[in-house]
Amino acid sequence: MDLKDLYREVILDHNKSPRLFGRLDPADSSADGHNPLCGDRLHVTLRLDGERVSDLRFDGKGCAISVASASLMCEAVKGKRREEIAHLFGEIHAVLTHHDAPIPEDLGKLAALAGVRDFPVRVKCASLAWHTLNAALANASDPVKTE
Ligand code: ZN
Repeated sequence: MDLKDLYREVILDHNKSPRLFGRLDPADSSADGHNPLCGDRLHVTLRLDGERVSDLRFDGKGCAISVASASLMCEAVKGKRREEIAHLFGEIHAVLTHHDAPIPEDLGKLAALAGVRDFPVRVKCASLAWHTLNAALANASDPVKTE
């Protein structure tokens, strides 16, 4: 499947039926994200088990790409450790912002997000969920910093 087909299929699917949609209550941390260019608004709540994000949810309103990206992100990072998430974020950021960046094999379905790099105004839509997750992780009162 080429990138365009993957993009269309995965984005449509995750926009229509977002995974892990909602809010955790109680949660260990949360953050709001806003992309003024498009009007996307997301809220991420998460629970931590040590260095691991044991559970998370997102909700909010936005364009298909911002919602699909948040859904894909939640699915991808659930159960992962902070350092694994930071690594994934680095890979996502690279494929979104560098037109010719190779797409790492381990991205799986997240590779679909690379489809937006042909639409620069959409990059902020696709990265909003990741920035919001980072803010929620930074807000978490965890004495151990992994940077
Ligand atoms: Zn958007």
